[in-house]
Amino acid sequence: MREHKARKRFGQNFLQDTRIIGDIVHAVRPQPEDTVIEIGPGLAAITEPLAKKLNRLHVCEIDRDIVKRLKTLPFADKLVIHEGDVLQFDFQSIPGKKKIVGNLPYNISTPLLFRLSEVADDVVDMHFMLQKEVVERMVAEPKTNDYGRLGVMLQYFFDMEMLIEVPPESFDPAPKVDSAVVRMIPVKHRIGEAADFEHFAKLVKAAFHQRRKTIRNNLKDIAGDDDLQAVGINPQDRAEHIAPDLYVKLSNYLVQKAV
Ligand code: SAM
Repeated sequence: MREHKARKRFGQNFLQDTRIIGDIVHAVRPQPEDTVIEIGPGLAAITEPLAKKLNRLHVCEIDRDIVKRLKTLPFADKLVIHEGDVLQFDFQSIPGKKKIVGNLPYNISTPLLFRLSEVADDVVDMHFMLQKEVVERMVAEPKTNDYGRLGVMLQYFFDMEMLIEVPPESFDPAPKVDSAVVRMIPVKHRIGEAADFEHFAKLVKAAFHQRRKTIRNNLKDIAGDDDLQAVGINPQDRAEHIAPDLYVKLSNYLVQKAV
């Protein structure tokens, strides 16, 4: 490669497989007028074909050298460059419903996904390259090993689907893990509206605190057996057996009870 040496601290694994790049752009289906934000454009592997199809493309990039390079590209006039940490980026500063895309730096993917949940109402769809193992947890159903806090919290906001599996050699440098592209679309109808989202989030975190323990044990400071039974949860069950909507139901029951 290239004039840019990949920086590990910024999770830089640059896509080099043109077939995968084409598949991602095809999945995003960009229309000229769309408001699209790309997180971490890097050396513009996805940025260039996206920009070709769009009137304008927002990109958010933390690496100053990469930002400099982006400004010299032949299609730079189409880019709106937001230099900085995407975890601090105010997505709402860009008006309209957004499509968000990115081959994400894996070291920040979980906090980023939680942050993006907050702007779900402003989003058309999101397509992300992530560690395959993370995508498996995002889409996992109850009673599977991958089902946990990440799945419950994201499934509250998004319908998700693994679209493309991507081997390490599609990147330069190659990461140590397999990757996958996930599509996330905000759900039309939530699995039940959490009356107090903070409470719901805290409850789910506590429920999965120690996976091997019963739900009764993990929630002992939050809910009694009566509360669990009132919404149809068996206190002896484990968190991983309980469907997302039951967590919403339990949270709402407890919030209501406390009034
Ligand atoms: N999109 C390019 C590609 O597919 O080849 C690069 C992907 S690379 C996995 C991740 C990109 O995100 C890098 O360009 C990196 O500098 C950038 N990045 C890392 N941490 C970031 C952060 N906190 N905020 C914004 N960009 C970040």
